Amino acid sequence: MSEIVAIDITHHQLPLDPPFPASWDPQPRTKFPVTVVRVRDSDGNEGVGSGDTMHGFADHARYFIGEDPLALAQHASRLSNIDFHGGRPWPLDVALHDLAGRISGTPVWRTLGGTSPRLRLYASTAVHRSPPEMVATAQRMLAEGFDAMKVRFGRPSIDDDLAIVSAVRDAVGDRLTLMVDCNQGWRMPWDVAQPWHLESAWSVAQRLIAEDVYWMEEPLHRGDYDGMTELRHRVRATSSMRIAGGEMTREPYEFRELLRRDCLDVFQPDVVCTQGFSGLAPLARQVVAAGKLFTAHTWGNGIGVLANLHLVAGAAGHAGSQWVEWPYDPPEWTIERRDYPLARHLEAQGGWLSLADEPGLGAVLDETMLARTASNRATFQ
Ligand SMILES: [Mg+2]
Repeated sequence: MSEIVAIDITHHQLPLDPPFPASWDPQPRTKFPVTVVRVRDSDGNEGVGSGDTMHGFADHARYFIGEDPLALAQHASRLSNIDFHGGRPWPLDVALHDLAGRISGTPVWRTLGGTSPRLRLYASTAVHRSPPEMVATAQRMLAEGFDAMKVRFGRPSIDDDLAIVSAVRDAVGDRLTLMVDCNQGWRMPWDVAQPWHLESAWSVAQRLIAEDVYWMEEPLHRGDYDGMTELRHRVRATSSMRIAGGEMTREPYEFRELLRRDCLDVFQPDVVCTQGFSGLAPLARQVVAAGKLFTAHTWGNGIGVLANLHLVAGAAGHAGSQWVEWPYDPPEWTIERRDYPLARHLEAQGGWLSLADEPGLGAVLDETMLARTASNRATFQ
C-alpha cells in the first residue's frame, strides 16, 4: 500500500488579449486563472485536479499526508468538513480519484460504473451578442456538428434577452435544441440585484415555452424551493420544458430538498466545485433513479471539463441520449484558452466526445505552458 506524500498547489494566469467578456462579469476578463492541484503517492503516482483556488488549504494538508490514497471516503469526509469551514477544496477529491485510477490502471468513468465513454455535447455560450451575431454563432455551432446550444440571459432588458431566442429560433428552426441560462441562482460578489421571483420567472418561462426551449436554467434563487416547485408545476402542466439548476449548490441536504420538493428536472452540480466525485457520483445515481436528468455544470478550465465528463459518463447513465455542457464561444472563448493547462486539448467531433480509455482522468499537463503562466495570484485581472 502506498501513502500520500505530497499535495502541491500552483496558480497560473493566462493573459487574454482580446479580453473575455463573460456575460456574468461586468469587467471583461484580461486573465484566465487556473489553480492546479497535484497529489502524489510514495510509489511516484500523481493525480491532478483543478477548480477553485484552494486558498488556505495548506493548513489542512496534514490530514491527507501519510494516508492511504485509496481511502477515498475518509478523504471526502474531511474535505466536506474543510468545505464547511473555508473555501471549496474539491479539486483535491478530483485529484485523488485521478490518482486512484492511475494506481488501479482504470479510467475514472469506468470506476464510477459507466458503460460508455461517448458523450453528446451542447455548445455553452458565454458572451452577450446582438441578435444577428447570435444567429451567426448558432449557425457556426450547427456547421461544427452541434445540435444543441445554450444562451445566456442577463442583458439590461429581458426583452433583449428574449429577442435573442426568437432570432435564433427563426433562423435555425428546429435544427438546434436551445437551452437558456437565466443565472438567477446565485450572484457575483459585486451584484446586489435581487433574483427573479416566481411571477417574473413564470412570465419569462411562458415566452421560452413558446420558443420550444429545452430547459430553463436557474430561473430562481437556489434556495427558493417553494418558487421552483410551483414554477416547475406550472411549466410542466403546459409544456415539456425542463427546469434546471443546482450548479453552485453545495450541501447534500440542499440537493435532498431539491429532489424531495420536485424543484428541478435537470440537476447540474459541478464536480470541481461541489462534493467531488465522492459526493456527486451517488447523487447522480439518485437523480437518475428519480427519473430526472443529471448533467454537470462544466464552466472552468479543461481539467474541470474533463473531470465533469468522467462524472457524467460514469454515473449519470446518459449513454449518449442527453447533452453535457461544452464551454465554447469563439472567438473570445476558445478550446485553446479553456484547455491551456492540458498538453492534449479536449476535442469535440461533430458535437460528440469520447473519453480515452486511459487510467484516471487521462489528463496530460502542459508543463511548459504551466511554467510560463505561473503566478502567485488566481484572479481574472
Ligand atoms: Mg448555469
